[in-house]
Amino acid sequence: MRAYVGLGSNLGEPMEQISSALHAIDQLAGSRLIASSSLYRTPPMGPQDQPDYLNAAAEIETSSEPLQLLQQLQYIEQQQGRVRKRHWGERTIDLDLLLYGEQQINLPTLQVPHPGLIERAFVLVPLMELAGELLWVPGQGELGKWLVRCDCSETIKVEK
Ligand code: ADP
Ligand code: MG
Repeated sequence: MRAYVGLGSNLGEPMEQISSALHAIDQLAGSRLIASSSLYRTPPMGPQDQPDYLNAAAEIETSSEPLQLLQQLQYIEQQQGRVRKRHWGERTIDLDLLLYGEQQINLPTLQVPHPGLIERAFVLVPLMELAGELLWVPGQGELGKWLVRCDCSETIKVEK
């Protein structure tokens, strides 16, 4: 199955955190990294007294089931020292399962497509770079439709 993962970091050398996480995703049992987007510098969502974020998206091919993949991603977060301090607070790494094929999943612990996908520039812009505006978001339509409605002015590409 083709799936997309959103990555974010604003603590502990974010560039290295994202690159380690991409490597770890590629090493996961049953998954391999197909492509990763550029890195984008973005302002924090929620509490403003925290550093800017680096965000990226990854395209993977996976044979893991969605819940298993979520667990694997959470394991990588733990390995990279993620500590949950406050809602939408600073973190070394955040890995969100954005899309899993065209499946819609509504479990208490897992919603796919990720609920923030269509409204957050820091998710839309890297995903668009990887998948293009025609990518189908189940229940929401084409990705491009959401991108034009979104304020991307503070989502700045830093490097490939
Ligand atoms: P956030 O990413 O919103 O800052 P967390 O990373 O701390 O918050 O995730 C909180 C919970 O979100 C996780 O325990 C997980 O069960 C849940 N969750 C629901 N849907 C998803 C998804 N698509 N990807 C990642 N986590 C998800
Ligand atoms: Mg998360």
